[in-house]
Amino acid sequence: MYRTHTCGCLRACNVNQTVTLAGWVQKVRNLGAMTFIDLRDRYGITQIVVEEHSPAEARETVCRVGREWVIQVVGKVVERQSKNPKMPTGDIEVTAEKVAILHEAEVPPFTIEEVSDGGDDLRMKYRYLDLRRPPLQRNMILRHKMAQEIRRFLSDEGFLEIETPCLVGSTPEGARDFVVPSRMSPNQFYALPQSPQTLKQLLMVAGYDKYFQIVRCFRDEDLRADRQPEFTQIDCEMSFVEQEDVLEIFERWAKHMFRHVMGIELTEPLRRMPWIEAMEKYGSDKPDLRFGMEFAEITDLAKGHGFSVFDEAEYITGFAATGCAAYTRKQIDSLTEFVKRQQIGAKGLVWIRVAEDGVKSSIDKFYSPEEVRAMAERCGAVAGDMVFILCGKKFKTLTQLCALRLEVAQQLGLRDPQKFAPLWVVDFPLFEWDDETQRYYAVHHPFTSPKLEDVQYLDSDPGRVRANAYDFVCNGTEIGGGSIRIHDSKLQEKMFELLGFTPEEAQKRFGFLMNAFKYGAPPHGGLAFGFDRLCSLFGGSESIRDYIAFPKNNAGRDVMLDAPGYIDQTQLDELYLQLRKPEE
Ligand code: ASP
Repeated sequence: MYRTHTCGCLRACNVNQTVTLAGWVQKVRNLGAMTFIDLRDRYGITQIVVEEHSPAEARETVCRVGREWVIQVVGKVVERQSKNPKMPTGDIEVTAEKVAILHEAEVPPFTIEEVSDGGDDLRMKYRYLDLRRPPLQRNMILRHKMAQEIRRFLSDEGFLEIETPCLVGSTPEGARDFVVPSRMSPNQFYALPQSPQTLKQLLMVAGYDKYFQIVRCFRDEDLRADRQPEFTQIDCEMSFVEQEDVLEIFERWAKHMFRHVMGIELTEPLRRMPWIEAMEKYGSDKPDLRFGMEFAEITDLAKGHGFSVFDEAEYITGFAATGCAAYTRKQIDSLTEFVKRQQIGAKGLVWIRVAEDGVKSSIDKFYSPEEVRAMAERCGAVAGDMVFILCGKKFKTLTQLCALRLEVAQQLGLRDPQKFAPLWVVDFPLFEWDDETQRYYAVHHPFTSPKLEDVQYLDSDPGRVRANAYDFVCNGTEIGGGSIRIHDSKLQEKMFELLGFTPEEAQKRFGFLMNAFKYGAPPHGGLAFGFDRLCSLFGGSESIRDYIAFPKNNAGRDVMLDAPGYIDQTQLDELYLQLRKPEE
């Protein structure tokens, strides 16, 4: 038997027992007469002692071991002289009688402890060593626990877990596909699923009215911080449901997760915020509601007073930064620089300082104190606050102000990872206009149904049509989203047409789904949650990478496996592929 106990389980009640432990040597401290070893496995760390009167063989062996060697220790559990209350096993230690080396180890490239001295790249390259560290182990355990809770809840609600294939045709989520060449069908390619969207809809046609899957999705998107080319979704679909039914069940699911994973009771019904309200009050379709500082439009108050910047603007909006009246010139300048950065692109920042004895602003030249005060009051400012105002095209301005709101909140320490403010964002627009290509795109995907009362505007004013689509948002992050689907083939054809597909293209890409619908499609809808994101939200970290055992780096590479990589000429030949220099 390699071990009788793990390195995390021995306590005072085990004193006097003879145990066998196995694990990795985290630390060796040789004090001459005595040698201490911190022995680690995924359950914890136990202190091993080898004393002067320990058997000679054990003494000799511990002299040789180094960090990360794999050893087995037989010994007696004894009460420690000086207890370590910080360690769960801190009341005891094991005095070694026998020490066996199971595997020697090279000196690891970084320290494998709670906090490592290794840089990001190095730890990615040796991910299997990083994964030995307690913080990463805790993350993997959290992820496992969450997966079990997801399955438990959904299975109890009657959902079936059904797997869908990875080698499929193109799936429509708006990103580029990863493709896989087929050897048996020369010059043809599979695509990896961007989501199982069409497959889960086919399962609804097949009569599996409650489906879920914890499933890998693949999207070849441009690099953005903390995006992974492959990631995991909790994918769900239901038949004979309306939006309300989907929101009801997944609200209960979310509360179940908070309760059973985090020990947090969310007693209130989740807030439902129409998309337009989220945009106008927070400048984002994923508002961070952990704090206030809502926006107020002041176009009517600010225009027509001879301040040309405002006079020429389509939209003027601001918010009151809580308790920021004491901001110095330097702080304001640095926030001005922040909004003027290329990524944000504002032209400048207007401020109003609100004090007990009056207001002072960067636009005092153009407005009377009463007019300035009216603007500040509209933004909900009270004495001690500082109002920040931006102007320009409506949605661009709102997005810019959102960046500023989040930055100010960050500086004020309001983005507390221990606090959770979940909500549903509903009533998304169905289409989004793209200036560059001069056409509409589906905000969600082409199967999302319009709101019945808005169908009348499909031809005359597509931009006005709202969708039966909803997002689950928490702390400024979109955690999930979905929609009620179109199950009327006429309406679906119309959607394809509005999205610029010819009937032939639509048939070629989505014919299999449309044809399936001809055999009896139930009304259906669903949603998908980002599992990695949900893990990082619960784990209190910004990065989804920390919750994926073997993630890719920001360039989409697996630096540990050195993938992607080149393949042999024979393999290329079999696949009828020819290489080209990138610049050709
Ligand atoms: N397939 C969608 C997505 O991946 C989710 C859904 O509509 O169910 O975003």
